[in-house]
Amino acid sequence: MVYSTNYWGKCMRVAILSDVHANLEALQQVLRALEHERYDALISLGDVVGYGPLPNECVRLVADAASHVILGNHDDALLGRTDIRDFNSYARQAIRWQSTITSPETREIISTYKPFVELPDAFFVHGGPRSPLDWPYILNIYDARLHFRNLQKDICFIGHSHRSVVFDQKEDGAIKQAVRERIQLEEGHRYIINVGSVGQPRDGVADASFALYDSGERVVEIRRVAYDFARTQKLMQDNDLPEFLIRRLQFGE
Ligand code: ZN
Repeated sequence: MVYSTNYWGKCMRVAILSDVHANLEALQQVLRALEHERYDALISLGDVVGYGPLPNECVRLVADAASHVILGNHDDALLGRTDIRDFNSYARQAIRWQSTITSPETREIISTYKPFVELPDAFFVHGGPRSPLDWPYILNIYDARLHFRNLQKDICFIGHSHRSVVFDQKEDGAIKQAVRERIQLEEGHRYIINVGSVGQPRDGVADASFALYDSGERVVEIRRVAYDFARTQKLMQDNDLPEFLIRRLQFGE
């Protein structure tokens, strides 16, 4: 592929992943899939920790692989900043256990995570562009409309809900919501795109989810890769993590 400069600025291919949630097996599988791809930047949209068995390893690997890392609510909670009383009991139990095994180096790395990242044409954030550190969810067209008002770019990539979805806003303001594997970006439209979750998908499919964005071709692809979730489940069992969190990995729920 030839990279050129268009009116957007520099053409780029960007790999985007989110919500690794201490699932090293899933993260490694995604990075293996990306070995066959060409990309100029790799952006993590947050929640490298929480829920899973290997937070230190995932934080280290994301730090090595990613060019930009954004803060998620679980990352923030591990540093003791976001109040875990807002978390459900399973999430709370997992983050409490993780804070007992987190290394100083892991905390140091997480403390460098950014609230959001901007490229010339796109905005990257964990929950949404409106008040990002309140960890908003964009689950429907009503939510999306509020966030489009706060979005200065044509495209916003998010995670947080663990379900990939596309909100497509036409010039007249009308918004469509859809689940797509391949999104051809149209002139004059604006987009909020959830890339899904690497380490704990919740759309009924166990496979890890990530995205590739090509600003020259104006295409976003949502990719899925199978990984050995039984290995992650075994490690969670060994560490007495909640059964509900262990089971959900195999159903993607
Ligand atoms: Zn998450």
